[in-house]
Amino acid sequence: MTADEREQNAVGSVATLLEALPYIRDFHGKTVVIKYGGAAMADESLRDGFATDVVLLKYVGLNPVIVHGGGPEITSYMERLGMEVRFHEGVRVSDAETVEVAKMVLLGKVNSDIVMRLNRHGQAAVGLSGEDGTLFDVRPHPSADEVGFVGEIEHVDVDVLNHIAEDYIPVVASAGADPKGNSYNVNADTAAGKVAAALGAFKAIFLTDVPGWLEDPADEGSVISGTTVGEVEAALSRVGGGMRPKLAACVEAIRGGAQSAHVIDGRRPHSLLLELFTDAGIGTMITR
Ligand code: ADP
Ligand code: MG
Repeated sequence: MTADEREQNAVGSVATLLEALPYIRDFHGKTVVIKYGGAAMADESLRDGFATDVVLLKYVGLNPVIVHGGGPEITSYMERLGMEVRFHEGVRVSDAETVEVAKMVLLGKVNSDIVMRLNRHGQAAVGLSGEDGTLFDVRPHPSADEVGFVGEIEHVDVDVLNHIAEDYIPVVASAGADPKGNSYNVNADTAAGKVAAALGAFKAIFLTDVPGWLEDPADEGSVISGTTVGEVEAALSRVGGGMRPKLAACVEAIRGGAQSAHVIDGRRPHSLLLELFTDAGIGTMITR
């Protein structure tokens, strides 16, 4: 690189920092709930990039709270154990053994991996599931007859999260138990929406495996870049697959007080920073 090129690069870096400055100022001290899972966990460099981004958010004064699932990892461990993997309308059919394995993978593997990465990048994290500090009070899903031990969160007790977040980054695995001690799988998007609402978060951000909410699910070019919570509610019954619980969670977060909810492409390196700190943004932003 010539001296000229080096200077050009440096000027570019400063411009990026200056572009981020008003956002950093606005977001200072604010809570951001981040739903992490699937595609953004798919490879080593994305996992590391995600950890770097979250650590940076904490350093610049935001209060990040991570909620995660672990669908693909759970499926892969179930297959390794020779267990049958079935879905009913996008929900994993869960007998007692499935829940046992899901919980082991979610907490013992996925959660601890995220915590370790955040620690290594310089901000200490604490992992927990819905059972810790009675965070989630879970009840059986309405279609429990078909799906088994899949739960819905009836109540979020944010006390434990607020305590942890004073000094650490909380990392929440989406599992929980009912008052009788039965464990359940909980959809991680739904959990993130409930947590965002209960915390009165400033923003809720959902990382996924498409560029955002698509007008036409078959066309990745059809991202709806900005919309309102009312429009999302009106469209919800026509949205399919994993996008429906995600958009429902966005609605829940905003109705609970969030200023905006975002669906962004977790396959894209540093999508979190691009969405938060640049003027362009990248995915779908839902506002009141
Ligand atoms: P995750 O929860 O890990 O982000 P999901 O598979 O649960 O992933 O949800 C995202 C999926 O939702 C997309 O990969 C896509 O197949 C599906 N989907 C259905 N309708 C839409 C839509 N209108 N826009 C975007 N994705 C959609
Ligand atoms: Mg999903």
